[in-house]
Amino acid sequence: MLPVHHPSLELLLDYAAGSTGEAAGLALATHLALCPECREVVAQFESLGGALLEAIEPAAVPSEALDNLLARLDEPVPVPVPVPDRRSPADDATLGPVPQPLRGYIGQDLETIRWKRVMRGVEQADIAVGRGRTGNVRARLLRIGPGVRVPRHTHAGTEMTLVLAGGFSDGDKQYQRGDFSFCDRETDHSPVADDDGECLCLTVIDAPLRLTGPLMRLLNPFIRF
Ligand SMILES: [Zn+2]
Repeated sequence: MLPVHHPSLELLLDYAAGSTGEAAGLALATHLALCPECREVVAQFESLGGALLEAIEPAAVPSEALDNLLARLDEPVPVPVPVPDRRSPADDATLGPVPQPLRGYIGQDLETIRWKRVMRGVEQADIAVGRGRTGNVRARLLRIGPGVRVPRHTHAGTEMTLVLAGGFSDGDKQYQRGDFSFCDRETDHSPVADDDGECLCLTVIDAPLRLTGPLMRLLNPFIRF
């Protein structure tokens, strides 16, 4: 089944322009691996970007700069570092729930990951990515038990969630494998995992969550989300 919930065009444009940080780029690229529709949009943005660059009149190059450039042609060429293909073909069932490029970060075997318990029925594992300009960006795997409800909370910043396996509902919206959700400080929600199995998600947040339910807000200093 193809994803129903997609990143905004603005986020896809940022991705095509290479201007997201590493963590957000990972969430978007992993969505693209599961979503032919958004791959097509990004491909169009990329070709549009290329056409715009070509349309710009080349500025006159000062002769000194040209000489420097020509001199550099004799320098040894740096060996290019292999970059994983960010538009891998869609994952197939035999490869388990983790498609590329996420697999390059966490491997394929979810059981060898060091999970930390957050609350009853919720575990998380940090993924090593750059922390972004503010140093606060975190990418994590979240594993939520069947039927478990995440306490009502809001966000001091933004939260991207990509479903890798299972599903959850959030208000009247239903999210399944490949679906992408974007929340910000306007969102106050309490997602609940589907009853029929564990829900595995990739989340990228740039600020801590804040619990908002009565009593629960007292727990804010203690939560490890
Ligand atoms: Zn999509």
